[in-house]
Amino acid sequence: MPTCSCPRHSLLCIIPPYMLETMAGSSDPEVRDWAVRAIEASADARATRRTLRAMPAMAAAMSPGGERQRLVYDARHQGMSSLPGRLARTESDPKVSDAAVNEAFDHSGTTYDFYSTLFGRNSLDGNGMRLISSVHVGASLNNAFWNGQQMAYGDGDGRVFVRFTASLDVVGHELTHGVVAHECNLVYEAESGALNEHFADVFGLLVRQWKSRQTAARASWLIGREIIGPQCTARALRDFGPGLAYENDPFLGSDPQPKHMRHKYTGTDDNGGVHLNSGIVNHAFYRFARSVGGPAWKIPGAIWYEAMRKLSSNSGFADLVATTEMIAAARHGQDGTVHRALRQAWRDVGL
Ligand SMILES: [Zn+2]
Repeated sequence: MPTCSCPRHSLLCIIPPYMLETMAGSSDPEVRDWAVRAIEASADARATRRTLRAMPAMAAAMSPGGERQRLVYDARHQGMSSLPGRLARTESDPKVSDAAVNEAFDHSGTTYDFYSTLFGRNSLDGNGMRLISSVHVGASLNNAFWNGQQMAYGDGDGRVFVRFTASLDVVGHELTHGVVAHECNLVYEAESGALNEHFADVFGLLVRQWKSRQTAARASWLIGREIIGPQCTARALRDFGPGLAYENDPFLGSDPQPKHMRHKYTGTDDNGGVHLNSGIVNHAFYRFARSVGGPAWKIPGAIWYEAMRKLSSNSGFADLVATTEMIAAARHGQDGTVHRALRQAWRDVGL
């Protein structure tokens, strides 16, 4: 299966290959066809990604004033090879009639503001990189991608998934892949790849919690709730909490993400389980944030942001554990409440 299958030339997508493969086995020919098209789009986009991964600095078009500079394109249902498409909205333009264009514009702006306000970061590369999005990519495409240069969003098939710009955390997830690429640039396979997915999920989620000012206790810990289509029974794509995001769904089956090291996936699918084993570290983050209390973007988010900048491209789970514990001890005291809560959260997931 060609979806996101080569770690060196990866395309970073929100819908993991195992979801598309389950859909490709559906008895409904229309659902099968959409799944196959999404799988083909991943292979198509990976060719672009291959040339860009090695040179993220070249792909970064700078914003002149170091302020947010958003460009949203309409791909007009063409494939990934014809990106970005026709320019539909720039930073100075008012709202347009196309909801997907406005969502990509607004959500990428909120993500920029999140990183700028909380961490003093000027865009994905810290140097004013333009935020480029293409919407209406492919025909009823069931995925969203970061290709090393820009975001690309499908419209969804309208039954299992709806348009991928609808969810702020999905947009924040894709953009955070861009941040990771300019920091530790975690290799997209096995544990380092699961950490890449983990950071994208954590900061995607925190962007939404920050925007809606939700504390860890009151917040939703679901990723992609808004992109679930009317015929799908899933609550979301992923759940940081102890529950399943979907169970016995006719299109997606049951959520396979582990929440503990004893259930860690050790096979080769999904680049060695990058969207699967991220569930273990996601759940530890959830337990830590709930234990510390207050808004998760403050203490836990700040520790995770610093950790993301300290890790290297081949870091694994043990490196994240050691790095976050070191930061927590330095910021909040050795054996202080925060440090102890973090150590407990890691222990709770078997790390
Ligand atoms: Zn991702």
